Amino acid sequence: PPLYKQRYQFVKDLVGKYKPKKVADLGCADCTLLWMLKFCSCIEVLAGLDICTSIMKEKMHRLSPLPVDYLQPAERSLTVTLHHGSVAHKDPCMLGFDLVTCIELIEHLEESELKKFPEVVFGFMAPSIVVISTPNSEFNPLFPGVTLFRHPDHKFEWNRVQFQSWALETARRYDYSVEFTGVGHPPTGMENVGFCTQIGVFVRKHPQNSEPAQFEKPTEGVYKTVFKAVY
Ligand code: SAM
Repeated sequence: PPLYKQRYQFVKDLVGKYKPKKVADLGCADCTLLWMLKFCSCIEVLAGLDICTSIMKEKMHRLSPLPVDYLQPAERSLTVTLHHGSVAHKDPCMLGFDLVTCIELIEHLEESELKKFPEVVFGFMAPSIVVISTPNSEFNPLFPGVTLFRHPDHKFEWNRVQFQSWALETARRYDYSVEFTGVGHPPTGMENVGFCTQIGVFVRKHPQNSEPAQFEKPTEGVYKTVFKAVY
């Protein structure tokens, strides 16, 4: 299967393993992953965030309930919400999630946004699990014609050491453990380059304090809700 499908399948497998009730996809683009996750019966709340409204709106109708969803109400409730905003900004609508996915997002962030990203995702949202995927630049020589980056919108592409040191430092700072894997196997004889897409799975070490936000001054919402469906 194509690489993007392998990445989405990786997330689906993770959902199967941890059974999160609330999942947020950051940099959700055309909402394909959210649409796939809609069929995971453990999920009750799905949220997407992207800085580009037009790409989110392209196929978002797929997230609306179908007639069959009304005729045969499911036992579980499901709410799907899409927000317009940046991962460089905190918004309380992103609190309380069990799993946060960032698939091929970080390499699109400007330096200033990447700097704020860990505090927003790990410090503020603080879900039990975070999954981050990004290209492994060591694989690039296997792509004919790729000179610098795989995509012109990439601000950087990291090798394994670069990604893993950033991830380990982030995990240490916010009290998560992190394990590394990936999707897209290199051809036989080229195993030393690693996976085409590198993936870090972060698991929060301690259960969250009962009311962490209680003593902080409430953060005002900065995201704009562009879609909401209740099943
Ligand atoms: N996650 C999707 C996937 O795997 O197919 C899409 C990945 S796409 C390569 C990167 C997405 O991140 C784009 O839709 C882009 O608009 C979004 N993005 C870029 N900077 C962002 C930011 N600061 N906050 C939120 N989303 C951002």
